Parts: sequence; structure tokens; C-alpha cells
Amino acid sequence: MSLNLTNLKKRISNAVETHKEEIIRLAEEIFDHPEVGQQEFFASRLLTQALAKYGFEVVYPLPELPTGFRATLKCAGPGPRVALLAEYDALPGLGHACGHNLIGAAAVGAGLALAAVKEELKGEVLILGTPAEESNGGKVVLVEAGAFQGIDAALIFHPGDANIVEVSSLALEALEFIFEGRAAHASSSPEEGINALEALIQFFNSINSLRPYLKGEAHINGIITEGGITPNIIPERAVARFYIRAESRKAVREVVQRVENCARGAALATGCSVTWRNYEFSYDAMVTNKALADAFKENLRILGVTEFGPPRRSKGSLDMGNVSRVVPAIHPYLALGSGRLVPHTREFARAARGEAGRRLVILAAKALAWTAADVLLDRELLARIQEEFSLAMLQEGAF
Ligand SMILES: [Zn+2]
Repeated sequence: MSLNLTNLKKRISNAVETHKEEIIRLAEEIFDHPEVGQQEFFASRLLTQALAKYGFEVVYPLPELPTGFRATLKCAGPGPRVALLAEYDALPGLGHACGHNLIGAAAVGAGLALAAVKEELKGEVLILGTPAEESNGGKVVLVEAGAFQGIDAALIFHPGDANIVEVSSLALEALEFIFEGRAAHASSSPEEGINALEALIQFFNSINSLRPYLKGEAHINGIITEGGITPNIIPERAVARFYIRAESRKAVREVVQRVENCARGAALATGCSVTWRNYEFSYDAMVTNKALADAFKENLRILGVTEFGPPRRSKGSLDMGNVSRVVPAIHPYLALGSGRLVPHTREFARAARGEAGRRLVILAAKALAWTAADVLLDRELLARIQEEFSLAMLQEGAF
């Protein structure tokens, strides 16, 4: 690393320290006002106000996302464009048990620190507010709206149970199946009816018979959302929702085809009709840009992080996966507290509001800001990032 960049990073760290109380306040206020996906009006307003105060040009709300935003910091002269992504949605009933309050505050905190040294940076820093990660991923909307065009790298951090910079996730398809039959008195004239619930039960059983023969990392998880109204009416309508996951979009499509055949078979066997639709966005598998992840890891090391876990293939899905298909991206996990806590638990939520959360949001803000500065100023790094990305896009089946 050049001496200039080293000095600049010291100044960025100092700027994070200067804004420390403000960054922590952002995280804690969002924690104290938990909002589920697409309802994050308090959080998005809070974060955009902070960014506007420090010289970011803020577009909020975004036309396609009422709780999304784009904040741009123009540095001294033309150069690369780096995006730091903020999440701030909570979980229904559990509040910030995934620690997204820390994600939002760290991205904005990094932005504030970079604003303090913008005269020495080239290019642009974007802070993108990406709502509803836990439900109907805002990043999918942004990718489809072209929000990542012309961006050279996209970074987000997520609190987790270990320090893991290389993360991959499963592709996901969210499908709703609707079986329709005919209502009739269940006891006195069942022969007049066509039971949609029977079809749905057969559908589940057929899927269960597929499970042992699915390839790779396929997961099929379903629930029944409608299964009739009262026992004395033959259910004329039965509905189920499924998340179908596998290691790539292609692999998901193969599983979906088999699941669709199960639906057709169950409908035929019972005389029902069946239709299906995507009820939430499809997520792509996350592909980590290793060159970018290595730069982030090196920065963490300098910031005093000594323990790193091996690359992780998450069994869940991330809307960052869609971003990682259009721009080089990372989605590292950083341990919250002792690292023994796992997201979506009440214990994790408690840590996200306590001392562990406060320490982590500051560490993450520094590591994100340093890595953003690397992308803007280190030409060789940017070339490596781009080369790896082009190669990954070319490799068949990489996604
Ligand atoms: Zn999360």
C-alpha cells in the first residue's frame, strides 16, 4: 500500500472516531424503531438526513422504492464509482434480530468518514438504501432499475457468528401454488365436490418423494396458506407457498420443473386445476469477488481482526446475490460479540443494541470506508476486481 493511502486511511479512521457517537446513535435509533420491509420510513429518513448533512446529494425516496435512497458523494475529479449498501429492515415480532440496524449505520458511517477526505479521493461514493432484505428484496428492484450501471464495486457487511469475507448463498425461487376444485357438502354430497385440499396434500407428498433424489444443495420448504374454510364444505381452494433453493439459478430451475410436475400430477389425480406464480422476487446465488474480499480482509487485519472463518456457503439466500451478478460485490459477515450468537434469535437482537453492536458498527464503518478508498485509488486492485468479475460472468454455470 502506498504511503499516501496509508495516511489517508488513518484520517478516515479518525473521521469515523469523530463521528462515533453519531454512528452509534443511528444504529440504536433504528433498533428502537424496528420497521419491517417496505415500511422503513423512520430509518430511511434518519439515514438520508445524516448523509445530506455531510454533503451527499440525496435522492429519497426512489421512484421505484418508497423507503429506498441513493446518496452520492462527488470526490475531487473523475474516477471509479463505489457503492456501499445499507439495509435497515427488521424482522416481524423479533425487531432487529438480524442486526440490519448495524448494516445501515455502518454504511452511512463509512460515508460520513469518506466525505471528510473527499478532496483526496477520485470518483464517486454512493450509499444505496436497499429496503426489505428479509422479504421482498429491494436490491432486486434496484438491479432491475439499472441502479448498478456504471458502478465498479458494491460492498455490504452483515453481522454474523464469525468473521467470514467469502460468502456464497443459494439461489431462490418463491412460488405460490393455487389448487381449485368444487365446493359441496362434505358429508351429504361429497360426490358433487372436488377437493382442492386433497390435491394439495398429494402435492406435498409427491414433493417429499422427490427429496432423496434431488441433486446438490436443493431445498424445498413449503407451507399451506389456505386449506379450506370449514370441515362441512369440501375445500374448493387450497394454496401453498414454497421457497425453492439450490446452488445456482439453473439448478433452481431444474428443481422447479420437477415441483411443477408434482403440482400437475396432483391436480390430474384429483380433478382439480392448478396455477402458480412467483409471489416474491427470485434471488440469485451470491458470488463473492475474491479480489475485493481480499482487500476487505486485509483492511480488517490492519484494524486488529485476527480470527477469520473459512469461506461459507450460506444455506439461505441473499438479495445481494442479484447485485453480485451485475457488479463485483462482497457480502462479508463480521462476528457480533463473542461470535456465538446466530441471527434471527432474541439473543442476537440484544447484542445488536449493546456494547457488541456498538463496537461492530464502528469496526465495519472503518473497514468499509477503507476498502471503498482502495477501490477509488488503487488502480491495480480495481483491474484485478474487474478481471475476476468478467471471468466469473463468462464461466458457464458460475451463477
Ligand atoms: Zn440479515
